Amino acid sequence: MPNQTLWGHPKGLYILFFTEMWERFSYYGMRAILILYLTAKTSEINPGLGWDKVSALELYGWYTMMVYVMSVPGGLLADRLLGQKKTVMLGGFLLCIGHLILAFDALWAFYTGIVFIILGVGALKPNISTMVGGLYQKGDTKRDTAFTIFYIGINIGAFAAPLLVGYVGEVINWHYGFGLAGIGMALGQVVYIWGQKYLKNIGNFVPIKREEGTNRKVKLTPIEKDRMLVLILSFIIVMVFWGAYEQAGGLLNLFARDKIDRVMFGFTVPASFLQSLHAFYVILIGLPIAYFWKLWRKKGKEASSLFKMGIGTIITGFGFLFLAKAAMDASIAIDGKASIYWLLGAYFLHVVGELSISPVALSFITKLAPIKYASFMMGAYFMVTGLGNKLAGLLGEAAQSAGEKTIFLSVFAFCVGFGIVLILFVKKLNKLTHGADSEDSNIIIVEAE
Ligand code: GLN
Repeated sequence: MPNQTLWGHPKGLYILFFTEMWERFSYYGMRAILILYLTAKTSEINPGLGWDKVSALELYGWYTMMVYVMSVPGGLLADRLLGQKKTVMLGGFLLCIGHLILAFDALWAFYTGIVFIILGVGALKPNISTMVGGLYQKGDTKRDTAFTIFYIGINIGAFAAPLLVGYVGEVINWHYGFGLAGIGMALGQVVYIWGQKYLKNIGNFVPIKREEGTNRKVKLTPIEKDRMLVLILSFIIVMVFWGAYEQAGGLLNLFARDKIDRVMFGFTVPASFLQSLHAFYVILIGLPIAYFWKLWRKKGKEASSLFKMGIGTIITGFGFLFLAKAAMDASIAIDGKASIYWLLGAYFLHVVGELSISPVALSFITKLAPIKYASFMMGAYFMVTGLGNKLAGLLGEAAQSAGEKTIFLSVFAFCVGFGIVLILFVKKLNKLTHGADSEDSNIIIVEAE
């Protein structure tokens, strides 16, 4: 049963796909209304907490950072004690409880719920990603595609959530919205429990071996050390990328609201709807981009993970050139607004960049991290994305005094320059992987080990 396949992939992939799709539905749904709930007045028909914007943004920033930072203890818990499969189960339960508590209309419930969600995402998010990698043998060419499929699942949840939870929470009642996010998570948990039979061989606890006769843990081999080094270097790319990309929810959200003419075909697109756009693009072009890289590799061209990440960073950078143009147009337009097409184009490029970086990085970690540190490294990866979120917030703050145009041009120049440098060094860096990134050769990997 665990080895059964469907459409060329192990059935376990689809279990992880749907579990994560619902988990992301709950995460992005709750996130979409969080700031609105915090800032809504206590006297409104649908009363919020009546916070000022600065305090709300601050909590939002810490919250979005902490969910990912908690991936580090989440990964450690899996490596040291429970294995990934049980840690995901635990995370799922914590999330169900957290969302359930948020459905209550009380301040204690709000804080308690948030803490449960932070702990739950920390336990679930990195470990479910590591489990996807665990479904494939070393050198299996399907691994990158599997991560793209998984990533599409994430984004189906991320696309639907702001529209559904956003509507219910904002228009009807905040707590119904939180409750709806919780129902999504409960469905994810049901899928996960039901699907255990397809996950028998993966995510189980692997005890760390100790050297015979001593109490010392087995150290890393020189090859493993090199691989850890290149992984840590790749984390710098990850932070640069998310620092640029995650401005979407903050600075770019405000930019869209205030400086973009959002009338399309006679209809004014609400700024918040644009928050679903990234996920929509991912669903649309996720597979074509993965296919493109496959063809590219078949042609014998450079298609290492680090190369893709370099190209992704450059493309993301060019998105900011579009945004700089929009900022310039807005500054000279009579109504102070620029065409929405610059924004649509910029988000498209950001997603092309995202698809060359984010699923690739997930796959890269599962290929390179020594098995005993697999979940920890995945946790560290998510922590770095959390720092990227914080960096994005700081850039947004800087734009308040430096102006959007300056910030957009700086991000453009930095991303493009950084990506080019990375590509120049890609051959050297690839050597540090000792063949683990080379998908079509099991032989190299076996030799290297
Ligand atoms: N958007 C992706 C998700 O929600 C990536 C998030 C991240 O890596 N920080 O899973």
